[in-house]
Amino acid sequence: MGHIRKQMITLMTSARCNLACVYCSQRSFPALAPGDETIDIAFAEAGMRDFFASNPSRAIRFFGAGEPTLAFEVMKEVRDRARRLAGDALRVELQSNGLFSPEVADWVERHVDILWLSYDGPPEIQDRNRPTRGGGRSSGVVGENLRRFADSDRMQAGIRATVAPSDFPRIVEIVEHFHDLGLRRACLAPVYSSTANVRGERSLGLLEFARHFVRADEAARRMGMSLSTHLIVNFDEPVTGYCRACTPCPHLTTDGWVSCCDETPLGPDYLPGILQDLIYGRWEPEAKSIRYFPEALARIRARNTDNLRRGGCSGCDLIANCSGGCLPKNMFMTGDLFTPYPEWCEAVRYLASRLPRPQGLFPFLHS
Ligand code: SF4
Ligand code: SF4
Ligand code: SF4
Repeated sequence: MGHIRKQMITLMTSARCNLACVYCSQRSFPALAPGDETIDIAFAEAGMRDFFASNPSRAIRFFGAGEPTLAFEVMKEVRDRARRLAGDALRVELQSNGLFSPEVADWVERHVDILWLSYDGPPEIQDRNRPTRGGGRSSGVVGENLRRFADSDRMQAGIRATVAPSDFPRIVEIVEHFHDLGLRRACLAPVYSSTANVRGERSLGLLEFARHFVRADEAARRMGMSLSTHLIVNFDEPVTGYCRACTPCPHLTTDGWVSCCDETPLGPDYLPGILQDLIYGRWEPEAKSIRYFPEALARIRARNTDNLRRGGCSGCDLIANCSGGCLPKNMFMTGDLFTPYPEWCEAVRYLASRLPRPQGLFPFLHS
């Protein structure tokens, strides 16, 4: 099972954002058309009905091309409709940039079971990487929200941190800062190559990140914390596919498309061409239903451990704990869904030789 056991429908409620992160991939997208900023509530409800009818999971997740809580009224309504559909079994995850008001925080405290806040480290790093839209500091409000939820009894709270290569040498200090805030779970990732972060060389810098991640992991274990990163999400047990994207679990975009992945938070008018392979459905407002694309579904489902073992990952002794790796990150580099990117393999191999595997079930699932 591995990370693929995180079965949830993702509702991308807002494509607008109140931050202006220096590495944000949305910066390279065309300007948003007015109707594409916020999800259609009827679309969200139709998606949840379809998902609950075909999957035993009763979990929903708020995320976005932008900051999901900027569509707060919509989010509240979608959660209430989900509760009517799923009953007491409903579980709610929110993945947010953490720049929200006390009013939103009160709602989060009452209704969210799993909270991931993006936060990059000590204030000078956070404020450099993740300034507000007006160029102000975000560390104060986000830090306050992190402290508020750090030791919540009913909620599992964690930090999602993006680490710039220039900060790799500070990775232990970053994790210690999270510990000082009271957080015990964090997922770290390097700044990935994307259309917004084009580099001169074709590199994701993964091996260098992996070297520093090992140091961070050692420090975290000493402090009683759990760390993760996309390269090791399946080091806990053998997998049938890399993650929920391969099932696929639906991700509903503000402009009315269904994709299988966080990195396709908008439809074809905005996405780089290669990522359009991850889209498999379209909201049809007049019919009030979602039309699914059978060929796209079949292609996505074919991205599983069995097929990769016969194809691009043939002969790899790590396949049971990797399964081809994160779809878009490899697709950006190799141009297709099934061809592994050697740099990804090198970094996974490095980590597999230094971290325990299989580790037994991880205490949390991110992304
Ligand atoms: S919070 Fe996310 S969407 Fe908003 S600017 Fe930062 S990276 Fe982009
Ligand atoms: S970005 Fe990677 S880990 Fe996240 S949903 Fe997509 S394929 Fe899965
Ligand atoms: S070949 Fe590479 S991408 Fe495929 S399973 Fe092995 S390490 Fe992962």
